[in-house]
Amino acid sequence: MSKKSLELFERSKKIAPGGVHSPVRAFKGVGGVPRFIRKARGSELVDVDDVHYTDYCMSWGPLILGHRDEDVLSAVEQALQRGWSYGAAEPYSLELAELITKQIPWVQKIRFVNSGTEAVMAALRVARAATGRTKIVKFEGCYHGHVDSMLVKAGSGLAEMASPDSAGVSSSTATETIVLPLNDPSVLEKAFSIHGQEIAAVIVEPVPANNGLLIQKPDFLHSLYALTRQSKSLLIFDEVITGFRVAFGGMAEVTGIKPDLVTYGKIIGGGFPVGAYGGREDLMNLVAPSGPVYQAGTLSANPIAMTAGLATLKKLLKTDPYSKLAARLQLLKDKLQNSTAASVLSVQSFASIFWLVIGQPSSTDHTVRSITDIPEKQKTIFPKLFHFLLSKGIYLSPSGYEVSFLSTAHSDSDILNLAEAVQLAAKAGIFES
Ligand SMILES: *Cc1c(COP(=O)(O)O)cnc(C)c1O
Repeated sequence: MSKKSLELFERSKKIAPGGVHSPVRAFKGVGGVPRFIRKARGSELVDVDDVHYTDYCMSWGPLILGHRDEDVLSAVEQALQRGWSYGAAEPYSLELAELITKQIPWVQKIRFVNSGTEAVMAALRVARAATGRTKIVKFEGCYHGHVDSMLVKAGSGLAEMASPDSAGVSSSTATETIVLPLNDPSVLEKAFSIHGQEIAAVIVEPVPANNGLLIQKPDFLHSLYALTRQSKSLLIFDEVITGFRVAFGGMAEVTGIKPDLVTYGKIIGGGFPVGAYGGREDLMNLVAPSGPVYQAGTLSANPIAMTAGLATLKKLLKTDPYSKLAARLQLLKDKLQNSTAASVLSVQSFASIFWLVIGQPSSTDHTVRSITDIPEKQKTIFPKLFHFLLSKGIYLSPSGYEVSFLSTAHSDSDILNLAEAVQLAAKAGIFES
């Protein structure tokens, strides 16, 4: 069935590490042959063997309007006619920057880069420059791109310095980061009481969505804000996923917390490579050429990507799809909660982001909020569920520890199909053992 994908995968493995250009695409977490996608439209992917799938990965989040949205497409087609890179000042990034700073007023200034990773790297540099401190606090289970100082894990003991979580990251870089558990205000307070004066910034995914969906209590985020005020550290919201996804103004809008700096990515480029960091004007004025923090990019604010981002954000403002998306996801929860699958899994969701928690019955109103709380079965059963759904034409994000996404291109009947397929999986005994 996936004969051509297999052929391409074998060829790819000879010339690229693991056959891919970003690790999760290789299906290592679920096994089997990664499907090579030939084209996509709306909520649908088509692979090289001409198999069609309803896509819930949506390029890992950027495609909130679905694949090949008509308005984004026509804006990009027109932009292409004008050339695709000038390496000079241009009006397209200005329009996108003005739209964002107008709609999200506490983002007083913004700088565009090419990925979320770059945005985080630069925001951390600004935080260190602004405070004259070196340490950064991050949380276990949050992902901030492949910045060296963020590829770290907790050391032993409370508030110990971190150790590398990737080969090639030096232990001296790792010691600049303090790794703390999510959802634990007392550990947080203790860490600040010991290290408060050394902490340049705390970086957090306000809805951690890169290691399952580890929804935090609003109190946790508020105490984070308060502690950073007390110790004169900066608070960085990494809204690469949540920005323009949970609300136009991201989790800052939802919680009413104004971080000092924010990082964006994914939706901001409408599916083209864009990242951004922004926030308080005095902090952003530290960035070159107005200040001493160097940061640059040959292809930054690429006019095609800026145009795609602008068309996407304008459409989000015009259509305000957020409550509709959440309602559609609620349909999935309602269906599964009242089905045979309810005893074997639950759906954890926030706005249009969802995660199937395996081995946690829907009837428990328990929410998984930290990595230690993720059921064992996530690892053993998810691969089987993934392939069962794939065989029914449903493409979830290919890892039990990654979230899935709804777009405005998904219909109620897409959702009902997903719910039905999960029930079929339960009947087929996928969740047993
Ligand atoms: C995806 C992601 C990043 C990294 O963005 P890239 O564009 O993949 O470099 C950083 N932070 C969060 C929260 C993300 O989800």
